[in-house]
Amino acid sequence: MEKKPFVTYEKAQEIINQIPTPFHLYDEKGIRENARKLKQAFAWNKGFREYFAVKATPNPFILQVLKEEGFGVDCSSYTELLMSKACGFTGEDIMFSSNVTPAEDMKLAFELGANINLDDITHIEFLERVAGKIPETICCRYNPGGSFAINNSIMDTPGEAKYGLTPPQMTEAFRTLKAKGAKHFGIHAFLASNTVALEYYPKLARILFELAVQLNKDTGAHIKFINLSGGVGIPYRPDQEPNDIIAIGEGVRQAFEEILVPAGMGDVAIYTELGRFVLAPYGHLISTCIHKKHTHKEYIGLDACAANLMRPAIYGAYHHITVLGKEAQPCTETYDVTGGLCENNDKFAIDRKLPKIEIGDVLAIHDTGAHGFSMGYNYNGKLRSAEVLLHEDGSFGMIRRAETPADYFATFDFTGLFIQKEDVQE
Ligand SMILES: *Cc1c(COP(=O)(O)O)cnc(C)c1O
Repeated sequence: MEKKPFVTYEKAQEIINQIPTPFHLYDEKGIRENARKLKQAFAWNKGFREYFAVKATPNPFILQVLKEEGFGVDCSSYTELLMSKACGFTGEDIMFSSNVTPAEDMKLAFELGANINLDDITHIEFLERVAGKIPETICCRYNPGGSFAINNSIMDTPGEAKYGLTPPQMTEAFRTLKAKGAKHFGIHAFLASNTVALEYYPKLARILFELAVQLNKDTGAHIKFINLSGGVGIPYRPDQEPNDIIAIGEGVRQAFEEILVPAGMGDVAIYTELGRFVLAPYGHLISTCIHKKHTHKEYIGLDACAANLMRPAIYGAYHHITVLGKEAQPCTETYDVTGGLCENNDKFAIDRKLPKIEIGDVLAIHDTGAHGFSMGYNYNGKLRSAEVLLHEDGSFGMIRRAETPADYFATFDFTGLFIQKEDVQE
């Protein structure tokens, strides 16, 4: 499928006149339309709720848009909990799916009344110790081990993953939690990431539904929800087919009707914790070509670098690139598109066919709405970029300013050093 940017050359120029590149741009219209489609796909389930994985795009303005669409949030750390609380998410609006959890994080999740998802059997005692008691509703993260395959092709290897409880531990944990006063139970699992296959959720659902029936039979626990977590992917490459979320929802419904309904468990709520599917296609990293270099290869140097988007550097991930205003021009050139880090993996694209690029051209790097800005870092003293939200009516607003040198130096105490405070302010 042809990948088109959601922003025109003219609109990008209008934004750049006010906010210099690089910045992450988000498409509110696309986010809302996709959110509604996701809800439609699971409308057959009375308790359905999406808990957006905050780590994918931790911005309060984005969370606000998702809140208006009825989503909850999935947090895994203290600061994600604080941000969610500040955005008005409380109690059951929050899933807390963390691992190697610090005591203060667990305590805050408990105080906020979040649905706590335990990553290990030892966390039962841990939670009891830091919170004083076990909440009435509690969830456990499941890890079946082995490998997870769809039609004989291995999607991922849960047996190598650090997350979750083994099958016998799930039974033991439910028994223990029940004895300690838990009344309603959730089951959670995340077995494969960025799947572009309609079968992932339905297959995962079957595994979890069968487990739910078994746990209910063995322990008498009331299963309140089953959380299919994240993992529904997006087509980063133009030759990939996008996931049809309606078909995925229908696949989960069939498993639900076949397994849970006959077991008298038709009241179980389905939760999801999608990050990438909900946000990735609705973000672009907008960046300007500041240098061209001709050596053994042809290089395009951008004002953005891997510190703004590290997926290509660490995963070799493909991100589509559009030269804004040159959409109709033929891709006659072969470029490495790079950032300025002193790391040779700081390349947004290698041997990419693109139209001829000049200094000053503006590039849209696609699918950066999730795990984009949020994975950013400060290597080489590079600063994090601004984030901008493009509204449905074409207006736009800065939803996070770019870092300044003062932000970079904010964690030092310069008392007694020769550096003057004035030197580090902008
Ligand atoms: C990262 C994560 C998600 C979101 O994953 P996506 O691939 O963005 O859908 C959901 N739940 C948990 C527990 C996660 O760690």
